[in-house]
Amino acid sequence: MSKLEDIVSLCKRRGFIFQGSDVYGGLAGTWDFGPLGVALKRKIMQTWWEYWVDKRDDMYGVDAAIIMNPRTWVASGHVATFADPLVECNDCHGRFRADHLGDFGEGVTTEEFRAAGAKCPNCGKSDWGEIKKFNMMFETHVGPVTDDTSIAYLRPETAQGIFTNFKNVVDTIYPDLPFGIAQQGKAFRNEISPRDFVFRSREFEQMEIEYFVDPENWQKSFDELLTDCHEFFENEMGLKAEDIRDYDVPAEDRAHYSKRTIDIEYNYPTGWGELMGVAYRTDFDLGNIERESGKSMVYRDKMTGKSFVPHVIEPSVGVERLLMAVLTNAYHEDEVNGEKRVVLQLPENLAPYKFCVSPLLKNKPELVEKAKEVYQLLRKKYQNVTWDDSGNIGKRYRKQDEIGTPKCVVVDFDSLEDGTVTVRDRDTTEQTRVKIEEL
Ligand code: ATP
Repeated sequence: MSKLEDIVSLCKRRGFIFQGSDVYGGLAGTWDFGPLGVALKRKIMQTWWEYWVDKRDDMYGVDAAIIMNPRTWVASGHVATFADPLVECNDCHGRFRADHLGDFGEGVTTEEFRAAGAKCPNCGKSDWGEIKKFNMMFETHVGPVTDDTSIAYLRPETAQGIFTNFKNVVDTIYPDLPFGIAQQGKAFRNEISPRDFVFRSREFEQMEIEYFVDPENWQKSFDELLTDCHEFFENEMGLKAEDIRDYDVPAEDRAHYSKRTIDIEYNYPTGWGELMGVAYRTDFDLGNIERESGKSMVYRDKMTGKSFVPHVIEPSVGVERLLMAVLTNAYHEDEVNGEKRVVLQLPENLAPYKFCVSPLLKNKPELVEKAKEVYQLLRKKYQNVTWDDSGNIGKRYRKQDEIGTPKCVVVDFDSLEDGTVTVRDRDTTEQTRVKIEEL
């Protein structure tokens, strides 16, 4: 089994992530988070929010509607150009993203694609139709009339909910430049071929920042934000520096308005892949809004009186891609007492539970009573604490290792005598005696 399959299997077995609509045979590209998955996901999102918004003086949050006025997506260019190259096999009629079938860019032409002789992943033939542009936005209708006038889209990115609120934030908070607006929330893309577990889904969650700058100083802010992104991944998410690398996207592969884009890539079990993008988007978005809405997006500097449309730097990360990086980094197999063990070495700040408390024996009321006491005590102190009295102690350790609980606390007969408990460490499996009040 590859490591990805091991991770997928662990996620299902232990209630982290299930296929979306599993009971009806699933819905491709959608995933449901179970009790432990949602705990991990929320901790990742909460840590991100604390790091980027709560702990900084130059960042403000918003939470915009998912369904926006469709003019948003005309102005942003998504209606015209948010499309991937779709190609169909003439033999088996399988449909694929052309640029994923070889070393092509998204602008690959039919001639280039055919000349490269790519084989159909379904049937192995090499008989391809014309490449067509496939728009990835999900359409819906707003209100009781279903015609062209009521079309709306599920947002394909959270960014536009930030840009459309730029003026609202400026006019209510009066922030000094440079400053950022942050948002977390769902995004939807009708991906041609969702794949690699939650890496490429049709419904996912983004954490995006639009950082507004004076165009003269964009480089400084870009470099600082990029450094902060690395610090966040390494210090807050526990990822290793050697598994993260910057890909400086060459001009021909960047969006036409972007003067610089760095894709931060992670070493996933499937190989290096984009974890996030940091893009200098100039005044492209605010300029588009001015043109489409007729409203001014000019910012006036309080100190100098200088008036201009700010430029923007966008650090954008997908929650599921980050969660997959965190799981990849945490998943380990080792051997304990001659038996294979699976252990999720999650950083303590992300583990769904900090402690698991249990009585050595379930059928000894005095042990259960004492253990409940310890459990309540730890719950009050740390909140995320779990209780487990199922199976034998070895099985409980095995289960807690798999869900990443850093410490297991076991109450035994000595605990009744001397007020100490066994604390067993997830990573080293070492056991120590600790006084209850020192936990
Ligand atoms: P890719 O090239 O992999 O399709 P992208 O460059 O289109 O990604 P962006 O539009 O820059 O992605 O979106 C910002 C972030 O959102 C990405 O870095 C990624 O973390 C996340 N993301 C984008 N598409 C998906 C998806 N289909 N499933 C999960 N996360 C996604």
